[in-house]
Formats: sequence, C-alpha cells, structure tokens
Amino acid sequence: MKDKILVVGGAGYIGSHMVKRLLEENYAVVVLDNLSTGHRRLVTGGELVVGQLGDEKLLDRVFRDHPIAAVMHFAASSLVGESVQWPLKYYQNNIAETVSLLEAMIRHKVVRFIFSSTAAVYGEPEEIPITEAHPCKPTNPYGVTKRCVERLLSDCDTAHGMKSICLRYFNASGADASGCIGELHDPESHLIPLVLKSALTRKPIKIFGTDYATPDGTCLRDYVHVTDLANAHLLAMNALLNGSPSAVYNLGNSVGYSVRQVIELATQVTGKDIPVIETDRRSGDPAVLVADANKIKKSLGWQPKYEALETIIETAWNWHRKQSHG
Ligand code: UDP
Repeated sequence: MKDKILVVGGAGYIGSHMVKRLLEENYAVVVLDNLSTGHRRLVTGGELVVGQLGDEKLLDRVFRDHPIAAVMHFAASSLVGESVQWPLKYYQNNIAETVSLLEAMIRHKVVRFIFSSTAAVYGEPEEIPITEAHPCKPTNPYGVTKRCVERLLSDCDTAHGMKSICLRYFNASGADASGCIGELHDPESHLIPLVLKSALTRKPIKIFGTDYATPDGTCLRDYVHVTDLANAHLLAMNALLNGSPSAVYNLGNSVGYSVRQVIELATQVTGKDIPVIETDRRSGDPAVLVADANKIKKSLGWQPKYEALETIIETAWNWHRKQSHG
C-alpha cells in the first residue's frame, strides 16, 4: 500500500473519480465529505468520514488517526448563478471552510495540498487560448472565492511551507469508463448531462444564446474528461511528494466545441432525437473559453486519454442511461 491521501469532497462528481483512481493505484484513501451535494454511493472504497471542515475536533481526529501524506480538496459550492444570488454561502463554504482545513493541516504538519480551482478565476478572456499567465479578474463570487483560496495558499507557502498545486479546470465532463460512477447533481446545470437527460426524457434542452460571435452563434467550451482530471491530480500529488514547489496549472483539451456541436454529437452517440429550444443568453457566459494546457503537459507530463468529445459524451451517456434504469 502506498501513502494515505485525504480526499475532501470525495463523494462528489470529480472527487469520487479521484478516489477511484487513487484506489486503482493502491493508495490508501480517507474521504471527508458532508454529503450536502455528494453521494455515499459514489464513494467506491477507502474510509468515509461524514462531517464539516469547520469541525475542528473532527479534523484533529482524522489527522491524528491517519498518517495523511497529502490532501486533495474538491469540496466546494460551484454554481455560478447561485453564487451571485447567495454570495455569503460561497464565502463560507469555499473560503472559511478551506481556512479551517488548512489550519488543521498546519496543526498536524501536513503540508501537501492539491486544490480544485477553475477557469472561472480568469473572468472574461482577453486572449484565447487562456494560459496561466492570463490576468485573473473573476466576474462572479464563485470565481472570486476560488481565486481567493489560490492567493491564501500562496501566503501559506511563504508562512508555513505549505506546498500546493492549484488545478484550474475548464469544463469537467464525462464519467468513469466502468459506468459505476458519474455526474449526479441536483439541480443539474451543466450542458452535457442536461443534453443527455433530454435524450432520455424528450424534454427540450435550452440553448442559451445563438448570437455569439462564434461560427454557429453558440458558446464554445473546452470539455475535459473527469478521469483525465483525476490523472492530473495524481501527477500533481506525486510532484509535491517528490519535493516540487507550489504551482498553478490549467486543465483542458485546448479545443472549443459549441453548444450546437455538443447536441449534434450527443444525437449521434445516443441515437435519439434531442429537442432544442433557443433562448436568451445566460448572464455571465463568455463566448469562448479554451485552455492552453501546455504548462502541465511539459512540467508534469500530463497526457489526456479521453480528449475526444465523442468519448466524453459516450462515457457520460453510459452513466446516465444506467441511472435512468434505476
Ligand atoms: N448551456 C446551454 N444550455 C444549458 C446549459 C448550458 O446552452 O441548459 C451552455 C452555457 O451557456 C455554456 C455551455 O453550455 O455556453 C456550457 O455550460 P455549463 O453550465 O455546462 O458550463 P460552464 O461553461 O458555464 O462552466
């Protein structure tokens, strides 16, 4: 058995894929999750501790009971629209709770941290593709809270030698190839699961805006498979355990697909008609978000395995179809 890793938010969409990859690689895993949006059944192994990051006693017990080599932090509120409506929930869940986690780590001298960050830290892109050097001007509280944690991690490095790698995801999507875990949000707001639900229910999918300055008028996004994200975390963790300094990396496939292209490909993959309604733009959506992910490829040797959008949709379809069959 290799090192023991604490996966915070390991019952959520990306966290559960991380737990599965860690177990496949023979790491010991402890999951800490409050199950507010996570699901017990997505945790495929390791030990699940249910609780809040703000619970000092609980965190002290976790770090006392387990020799944790590194922490991966996936637990966050992550709905942009909700963050505009209820900013304090985001400041509390994404910043204050993370501060509690970091305080516990420092008390127990655990100083390796992998953080789930987001392309939302950049705000409206000034240049495409977006490199890590792009200015960070988040345009909603969700992006602000993620950026704030990146900044406080840098301060914790200076003050406490806390080494961190922040991974800025573009559009996380797809599901584990086994079909046993996948995206399970309620309410769901992301394009690919909603399109696949439309394929299953025939309820129309809304296209938010058809008048963008893009080839077909709909927004372009960089979809990246959740297992490729998990593999990037493994590389990042190993780098930190081998003494690498703190760093920030983008994670994306560097290709932008339009909303219409996603629907078209989903129609082919599922063999179902997907009814569409064209509606107004959703506020705050940039026309194009595409990553330059060369930094992590060069520095850590990350190589996505599931970059074809068709594969991403196929794996997601495999999962969603199973859910609909109970
Ligand atoms: N989108 C859409 N209809 C939906 C959900 C999303 O047209 O029901 C569009 C959205 O405007 C964006 C893209 O699909 O251009 C991806 O949105 P998603 O919420 O999946 O991810 P985001 O890029 O906002 O993180």
